[in-house]
Amino acid sequence: MADKIVVVLDFDKTIIDCDSDNWVVDGLGATELFERLLPTMPWNSLMDRMMRELHSQGKSIEDIAECLKKAPLDPHVIDGIRSAYAMGCDLRVVSDANLFFIETILKHHGILECFSEINTNPSYVDEDGRLRIFPYHDFNTSPHGCSLCPPNMCKGKIIERIRASVTAEGKKHFIYLGDGKGDYCPSLKLSESDYVMPRKHFPLWDLIRSNPQLLKAEIHEWSTGEEQARILKQLINKAIVADLMSVEFKFDSIPLSPKETRPVALRVPH
Ligand SMILES: [Mg+2]
Ligand SMILES: [Zn+2]
Repeated sequence: MADKIVVVLDFDKTIIDCDSDNWVVDGLGATELFERLLPTMPWNSLMDRMMRELHSQGKSIEDIAECLKKAPLDPHVIDGIRSAYAMGCDLRVVSDANLFFIETILKHHGILECFSEINTNPSYVDEDGRLRIFPYHDFNTSPHGCSLCPPNMCKGKIIERIRASVTAEGKKHFIYLGDGKGDYCPSLKLSESDYVMPRKHFPLWDLIRSNPQLLKAEIHEWSTGEEQARILKQLINKAIVADLMSVEFKFDSIPLSPKETRPVALRVPH
C-alpha cells in the first residue's frame, strides 16, 4: 500500500544537517570570497564561480568529494529513508544544491539507490577537472515566472510535474520534508491527502505558521533526525490506513441484501 505514497525530500538541512554549498566553501577555505561575491550574483551562479576559484587554487574534484563525505548526516535520517524505501514508498529528492554534491553524499552513505529521482541543479566535471554548476531552469531563455522562488528553481513547478507523472500510477499521497524558504512554494501545492513536514524553527516552518490556512496538507513539524524518521514512518502508516479506510467505506456503501454477510474489515499491516 505504501506504493501509493511519494516521499519528497529537500536535501540541505533536511537529509544532511548542514548546507552542502556552505559546507564545501567553508571546508575548502573560500568563505571570505563567497561572502564578498554573494551580494553581486545569484547563489547558483556564485557556486559555479566558487568551483572555478577552488579549481584555480589547486583544489581537485577529489578534494571536494572528500569534503562532502564528511558532511553531517544523522543515522536516524538514513534509517528513516531506508524504512520508507523498504515499505515501498517512491522517494525523490528536490534540492537547490547540485547533482554532484547530492550523489556523492547519498552514495557515500549507501542510500542513493533508495531514490527514484533527484531533481536539482545539473553539474558535471569538465575536461580540466573543474566542477561546473548550472541552473535547473534557465532563467534567461525560460524563466519559471514564480515570484516565491529563486530564479534558478521553482520547487512548486517540480512538484506539479511529479504529481502529473505519478497520478496515472495511482499514487495519491505526498509527504514533503523541508526546511527552507524554497520549500514553501511546493508546500502550497500539496492537497488534502498530503502531508508536509517542516523543520521546526526553520524558515519553512515560520512561513507555514504565519498563515497555516493557506495549506491544504496536514502539517507535522520535526526537529531532530530521530523525530524526522519517527514522524515519517507514522505518516506512511497513516496514509496506508487512510487508503484502507476509503476501500472499506466503498464496500460499506454498496447496498447488501440481508442474506449477504458484510465484507470483513481489512486488516491494517503494522
Ligand atoms: Mg534545505
Ligand atoms: Zn515557486
